[in-house]
Amino acid sequence: MNVYDSARMADVLAPLGYAVVDDAEAADMIILNTCHIREKAVEKVYSDLGRVRQLKSARERRGGRMIVAVAGCVAQAEGAEILVRAPFVDMVFGPQTYHRLPEMVARAHRAGEKVLDTDFPAEPKFDHLPGEGSYRGDVGAGTAYLTVQEGCDKFCTFCVVPYTRGAEYSRPVAGVVAEARRLAAAGAREITLLGQNVNNYHGAGPGGATWGLGRLIAEVAGIDGIERVRYTTSYPADMDDELIAAHRDVTKLMPFLHLPAQSGSDRVLQAMNRRHTAGDYRRLAARLRDARPDIALSSDFIVGFPGETDADFAATLSLVDDIGFAQAYSFKYSPRPGTPAAARGEQVPDDVKSERLARLQARLNAQQLAFNRASVGRVMEVLMERPGRHAGQLIGRSPFMQAVHAEASLAALGSIARFRITAVHPNSLAGVAVADRAASYADERATA
Ligand code: SF4
Repeated sequence: MNVYDSARMADVLAPLGYAVVDDAEAADMIILNTCHIREKAVEKVYSDLGRVRQLKSARERRGGRMIVAVAGCVAQAEGAEILVRAPFVDMVFGPQTYHRLPEMVARAHRAGEKVLDTDFPAEPKFDHLPGEGSYRGDVGAGTAYLTVQEGCDKFCTFCVVPYTRGAEYSRPVAGVVAEARRLAAAGAREITLLGQNVNNYHGAGPGGATWGLGRLIAEVAGIDGIERVRYTTSYPADMDDELIAAHRDVTKLMPFLHLPAQSGSDRVLQAMNRRHTAGDYRRLAARLRDARPDIALSSDFIVGFPGETDADFAATLSLVDDIGFAQAYSFKYSPRPGTPAAARGEQVPDDVKSERLARLQARLNAQQLAFNRASVGRVMEVLMERPGRHAGQLIGRSPFMQAVHAEASLAALGSIARFRITAVHPNSLAGVAVADRAASYADERATA
């Protein structure tokens, strides 16, 4: 989502004459767009600010001016503290106010004025971002992100998002579809619909109807030029019938779903304030596989949540064994200041967390490898996304989000082509091109 937000900041600033540069030294303004999810996020921001300060000082020694801004969730959480600890920072603003950037820049340009804007404004920022004509979007070699929902009302006890991104908000259907059309016209073949709880999307549709995500996906998939649709991130308890049916009915919806389980222990899930049980998760996975038998599942896991026992951890391993994940992210629990779990007793010792994480990751890695090995010999459609490390090599994505390395010319960037998978590397596949894209992926699935 920060990638998407950064692109929209660039859109907002373009009419003021700003353009993105590759080299920070050449910048008239540096915006650190920050994320608060990972451990030590705040320390990392201050450490980066140390480097930015040197650039600003060098610019001023040459008689120039540089505006320094901190944006995003760390800015939201730290607020005025940033201006105290790093007085050379000119602007601090949260994720809900960047549509006001032109006004903030004007204020910062006035001598000595510091700007702090961490409101949760009543006016939705999406109504105030550039529309037709000035919108540049984020279309990197055929793929684009599109935020459809923001914020979170779930308050998982380990998470800062409800405090930094604010309450859940779904964009109206018309704005989302118009933006998807612009992205398609700009070259997007694949659109990933984004939201902290994207599957709880409930946007105002035509005629006063409220649309869920399943219906929105079908609409976006129907736009000329769009060949793939994905969405992330989903909350298990919010997977509704319509969305599960979309996995059966909308062939352009890719057969891959990131569905964070976090734990396989009902006791821990309850302490996390997750609204699903391990049994719910198993049943949901089964329903998804009924709807789309080849769907690949991905997940997030936290090990060593406060109070997690050996039996709780064993329940997580059991869930992993039962589901079989194509990939997963797993982390040791680390406290986020201000969240309920951080204040709990029963913190699990670090060596226990490390040992559990190693065991969990061994299983998840084995599952990922088995999933990737099963791809060898198959022909898959791959969207070529970026140049590889070697000349003449491109890296693309399979329908199942696997990275695929293949020989291909730069001209193929942004296109979808068919590759036979020939080898498996630890985190990627190797493929060779087969005849031109004669059949659809659906045909391929039917004959696989
Ligand atoms: S649902 Fe996701 S974003 Fe919301 S509080 Fe839980 S972990 Fe955080």
